[in-house]
Amino acid sequence: MTQSVIRAVDVCKSFGDLEVLRKVSFELNLGEVLCLIGPSGSGKSTLLRSIIELETIDSGGVYLEGELLGYRAQGGKLHRLSPSRAAKQRQHLAMVFQSFNLFPHMTVLDNVIIGLTVGRGVAPEVAKKRGLALLDRVGLAAKSGAYPRTLSGGQQQRVAIARAMAQDPRVILFDEPTSALDPELVGEVLEVIRDLASDGMTMMVVTHEMQFAHDVGDRLIVMDQGSIIEEGAPREVMANPVHERTKRFLGMMQIAG
Ligand code: ADP
Ligand code: MG
Repeated sequence: MTQSVIRAVDVCKSFGDLEVLRKVSFELNLGEVLCLIGPSGSGKSTLLRSIIELETIDSGGVYLEGELLGYRAQGGKLHRLSPSRAAKQRQHLAMVFQSFNLFPHMTVLDNVIIGLTVGRGVAPEVAKKRGLALLDRVGLAAKSGAYPRTLSGGQQQRVAIARAMAQDPRVILFDEPTSALDPELVGEVLEVIRDLASDGMTMMVVTHEMQFAHDVGDRLIVMDQGSIIEEGAPREVMANPVHERTKRFLGMMQIAG
């Protein structure tokens, strides 16, 4: 039986006159890896940022395990949740950014556990133990005391993934996690994501790594100009794209890759 983790319904978002998301709807089920591709500016980052409420959507809704994010229904109306209630919901959603976003003045271990100690009041020794186990999982146990600037981009991104996992989230959203990396460092990060996938982590991954989407993705969504124009099994969509714009985009990707 499939169990919905994220359900987006008719999500709309504009920046001024620019319609960035036009009634975007999709579902992400438990244990699924949903890959998202599309040309630059098509709204991929805005979609992820809207799910995690870094952007406020104009209309539509995002549900986490059936619960509407950011609002509660009362008396037939929707009311915005208090910041603390909204933050509690968001704890279940983790995001990994293209640019790692680690705190430069904190050690690797502190970066991983700051959300636990300061954010959730987990005892330091408990958080530390968990943080070290997660760093071990991403192959960086030996770097726990190092500062981010002394790490390669690939290592920094693996720290960011460990930090996301420390949240014990229901879903991890990845926004082009390997786009800022030198080509030789891409593989080590994709390997960690692949490992999470085989462990059953529910994930949504914006990526231009077509081989990864092909091998690891359970489903592929293609966005263009704020809409989902195509959706299906990755190998199906790649082998037999229906939409002319998908064909063009995939053609470009092949040349680029
Ligand atoms: P993608 O991630 O697919 O490249 P984005 O979601 O980043 O696309 O951006 C979609 C469109 O929204 C682009 O035209 C971008 O310039 C615009 N945009 C994104 N964020 C903002 C913002 N904060 N203010 C104004 N325009 C924005
Ligand atoms: Mg983007």
